[in-house]
Formats: sequence, structure tokens, C-alpha cells
Amino acid sequence: MDSHQFQADVRQILHLVTHSIYSDREVFLRELISNASDALDAARFEGLQRDDLLSVEDPGIRISVDAEAGTITISDDGIGLTAEQATENLGTIAQSGTKALAAAIKERGEDASSMIGQFGVGFYASFMVADKVVVTSRSGLPEAEAIEWTSDGGEGYTLVSAERETRGTDIVLHLREDSAEFLDADKIQEIIKKHSEFVSWPVSMDGEQVNEQAALWTRDPREVTEEEYSAFYKHISGDWNEPLVTLHVRAEAPLQYQAILFVPARRPWELDRLDFKVGLKLYQKRIKILDHADALLPRFLRFVTGVVDSPDVDLNVSREILQQTAVVATIKKQLTSRVLKKLRDLTRDEDGGAEKYNAFWGEMGHLLKEGIHEEEGSKKLLTGLLRYPTTASGGDLRSLVELKESMVEGQDTIWYLTDVDKDRIASKPVLEGFKQRDWEVMLMTDPVDEWVVMSIKDFEEVPLKSAAHGELPETDEEDLSEDEQKARTEATPLATWMGEMLSGDVEEVRLSSRLTDSPSVLVNKEGAMGANMENILKAANQQVMQDKRVLEINPEHPMVRTLARLNSDGSPGLEPFARLLLDHAQIAEGRVADPAGFAGRLQALMEKAASSM
Ligand code: ADP
Ligand code: MG
Repeated sequence: MDSHQFQADVRQILHLVTHSIYSDREVFLRELISNASDALDAARFEGLQRDDLLSVEDPGIRISVDAEAGTITISDDGIGLTAEQATENLGTIAQSGTKALAAAIKERGEDASSMIGQFGVGFYASFMVADKVVVTSRSGLPEAEAIEWTSDGGEGYTLVSAERETRGTDIVLHLREDSAEFLDADKIQEIIKKHSEFVSWPVSMDGEQVNEQAALWTRDPREVTEEEYSAFYKHISGDWNEPLVTLHVRAEAPLQYQAILFVPARRPWELDRLDFKVGLKLYQKRIKILDHADALLPRFLRFVTGVVDSPDVDLNVSREILQQTAVVATIKKQLTSRVLKKLRDLTRDEDGGAEKYNAFWGEMGHLLKEGIHEEEGSKKLLTGLLRYPTTASGGDLRSLVELKESMVEGQDTIWYLTDVDKDRIASKPVLEGFKQRDWEVMLMTDPVDEWVVMSIKDFEEVPLKSAAHGELPETDEEDLSEDEQKARTEATPLATWMGEMLSGDVEEVRLSSRLTDSPSVLVNKEGAMGANMENILKAANQQVMQDKRVLEINPEHPMVRTLARLNSDGSPGLEPFARLLLDHAQIAEGRVADPAGFAGRLQALMEKAASSM
């Protein structure tokens, strides 16, 4: 008898499966049928590549219940397992799967059981209902011998040679006492209908086929119900939520293909992983060619799942070659715009569509932002899908259309501010003048946003500009009060003097049109790199040629007024106090270039204030 220890990760999974997740146990059957179906796909695919594979007539999946023996058997005519494959695939798992399942259980508790298949550990769901599992399998490879794998779901398993006439696998579950409910054939049939309706191989019980098996995508969209789409989505994605968007395409000429695509409402957990694989499947006349067809949609739409079936793709095509074929390029282009238009339609849907879209944007918006930068062809549609909070939205999201509509007289620009400080961005001094003029400013706090605005220079002929760059258009002379005009005139020589004094630190010192309350602010030269971008490049170890910034001073602020007066009187010793205006602007941004110098200047100011009290 050949006994083997499970790898530590498997033991952990088994522990989780038998102790922590106990609801929804019926999903064990879905997982085993899904594996059987995968094995059948693999056999068909392998059979196309080589002609010495053991063949079977009418391959399918058979399920039987033996109430007396207390067992359920799931048999398939799939590719089977060699002894080596059994050791590899039923005794070890990718480390990531264990971690992800443990995390999901922590987050969702028992409900995580329905997710088990997503983590590449579906087989172990057998032990939710069985205290002994026997796998008898014969690989379709010509030289392979049959094996028998047995485990009680504890520390390990045994692996011995066995007998099996044809290729495929039988999995016998010896049900636990508390799982006797699954010994009812009607109940099993019901579970198959519920979870495995769309398996593309016949699933039968007592010689009768239980599942529908007609490929949904080949049917007329007008005849497919919402429930069918929803069930199909759950089947192929493993997600238990409803999809956000469903798209069913049947293209005839010049290119023939059918597709059902889904946009998930929630962020798939594995999306951020380096080894993430897209959930889009490629079929050729209902034969599955690829499980993860990443050439059919751009990378920024990698959250889209579904199937694409086209007679025009080559059966033996590899993933790499697929990228380069003209057929695929055309399908990709068409599907991309169809998906984006579906999302746009959702935003316009009066029946809560905008809220649904905004929630989606919160979870997956940054992927769409990638697209703006990468896919020139999709830019227009993607620009319409952008959403940001603004200075006037009270935290709600606004589109560029809405920003354009909210423009007031005299405003000829859509303004934005990029700053990763989510909590403070709305109260930045640079925004004072915009609020005063009632100009709504988009608040962009995601580091990639600077790439976004680099790619979209304007929206429907209105330019987009950074609120922290360049000079804000001055209010017309005649709109200024006499006092305001006087303040500007008096502060002009101060700005010139300060510009010379601070020439090592800033590009220029000028009078500000964008401040109401603060004495000073730092802004960027028109066209200079934004602070986020600078941080990104620095983090990537890139040499950053930093443009010097511009110090704007507020001529009406008491401190500036006083300095202006003292300066025109020719008072000596003003330098430290003028320099405090630069310190102030830096502190408002959360950084001080010269802390010791600043402390000295502040101290001098306090002494002066104290002596005149
Ligand atoms: P996943 O299906 O995500 O790979 P599972 O835990 O469900 O993870 O299955 C683990 C592996 O066991 C499969 O990848 C496959 O190699 C093997 N396996 C399971 N069931 C079968 C089967 N019926 N026929 C052949 N191989 C199987
Ligand atoms: Mg599986």
C-alpha cells in the first residue's frame, strides 16, 4: 500500500473545508462536474493534436446514487490521471489558493463555500460531504495504467494501481452521516439543474440526460431569459452575484462569431494578482479552444468574462499566434466598443443605472483609466465613462458631461486637481479662487489620474486644465474694487523683489488670482509635471528633472499687505518674513524643504510679535 502525506497547504484546505465552511454544501457536486467537464475538454483537445489517444464513444458525465452503500459516484470519459498527475493534482495546490480561500472565509464566513471553485481547490469540496473519497482513473495516454487514489480527508492519501477499461475517472464519495440528504436521486438531479445546467457535455443519471447542454450563445438573444443569462454567468465565472452588464452578440458578416460577455458588478478577487488569467473562453463551433483567451479583449477589460465562438479561428491555434491573427483583431475591436457602449448605456439607464455604474467605477474604474492611456481607439468612449468627485459634488461622482454642463459664464475650461491626499484635496489653497468663481473642479486622487489627463487634453472642445498649473485668468480690472486694485499695485514691487530673493527656490513670484484666504501658494508652471507624476517616476527610480515652481502671493492678505508697505518704505531685514510666505505654501502642501530654517524664521517672527504686544 502506497501511503502519502498531503502537502501542508492541502491539509489546511481540508481543515477549512471540513470545519469552517458548512453552508451550501451542495456545491461539491458542481465542482466535481466542472472538473469532469474540464477533463473532457482536455481529452477532446488532446485528441486533436495526436491520434494515439484512447478514444471513447459518446463521451459524457454520469452520476449515480447508491443509497444502500451510502455513496455518490461521478464518472467521466475525460483525459484521466496518471499516477504522477494524481500525486501532483490531488495532493498539492498552489499556495495562493489556500491563502485566498482562507481570506475569503475570514471576510464572508460560511458563504465562502460557494466560492471554493474559484481558488483552484474545488476537488477538496468533496470532503464537505464525504469522509472517504476514492478516485479511480485511467489516463487517455496510450501507455498509462489505471490508478486508485483514496483519502479520508485527513493527513494523507493512498495511491495504488487499479483496473479501468476505458479512459476517464470515477469519483466515489462515501457520504458522511450528516450528508445523507444527498443520497436522494431527485435532489441530486435538482442540484445538477441548478448549478451545472450549462456544462457543455451531457450529464446523465440512470441513462437520462439531465442538463440542457445547448450552447446558450448560439441561441437567438430574444429567446434567452434573464434567468438563463444569470445562471450562465454564475456557471462560467464562479461569481454568485448578478452580472452588471450582459452582452450577447451574433455577428454574421463579414466575420462570423457569437459571443456572450459579462461585466461583473464586483471586483473579482484575483484581478490584482500577477498570474491573473482572464475569464474569457474561446470556442470554435462549440469546441473549446482556450479557457483564458486574453487576445480577444484589451487588457484594461480583463474583468470581462464570457465566451466567444467563431468558425473563423483555427482549431489548433496557440495563444501567442492568436494575438496576431486578423480575425481576432477584428473581433477584439468590435467587442471592445460593444462592451464600452453597454457600460455607457448603463450610465444612462434611468432605472438606477447610474448608481450601479458608479459603484462599479469605484471598484474597477482604475482599469478603465489604464485604457484611456493605452487604447487610442477607445479613448472617446472611455472619456465618457470617467467619474470623479468635484469641489461641488459633496463626495458624489460626476461625469465630464456634467462638468461641462455646470460651467458658469466666463468659464472656458474644465478644471481638475490631482493630489493623492484624499482627505485634504478639497481644501487645498489653490482651489480658493475656483470656489469663489463657482468653477467646479474635478478632484483626482488616484496616481494614474495624471496619465488620464495627459491623454485627454479636451472634452467636446472644452480644454481640460490643472487648477495647480499656470496662471488663473485675472479678474477684469473694472470688476476689481478700488481697494483690490490698490492692493495689487502696492504688492507688485514686493513680488518683483521676492522673485529675485527666492530665485534659487522658485521660478518666479507673482500676484495670485486664485487665493482668497491664504497668503501664498505654490503652483506649477504651465505644462510642468504634476506632483503625482513626479512621485510615480521617483518611485520607479527614474531621474526626474523637476521644473522650478511658481510662488503666488495674495495681494489682499494682511501679511502680504504689511510686507508690501514695509518693502516700499525700504525697511531692512524683511527677508526672513518674505521667506515665510514660501514656507507657508510648502507647509500647506505637507512638506517643508528647510525645516531648521523655517523654525528660525518662525521664532524671529514670534519674537517680533511678542515685542510689539
Ligand atoms: P481546478 O479545477 O481549479 O484545477 P480542482 O481542485 O477542482 O482545481 O482540481 C484539481 C486538479 O485535479 C485539476 O486541475 C485536475 O488536474 C485534477 N482533476 C480533478 N478532477 C479530475 C477529473 N475528473 N479528471 C481528470 N483530472 C481531474
Ligand atoms: Mg475544479
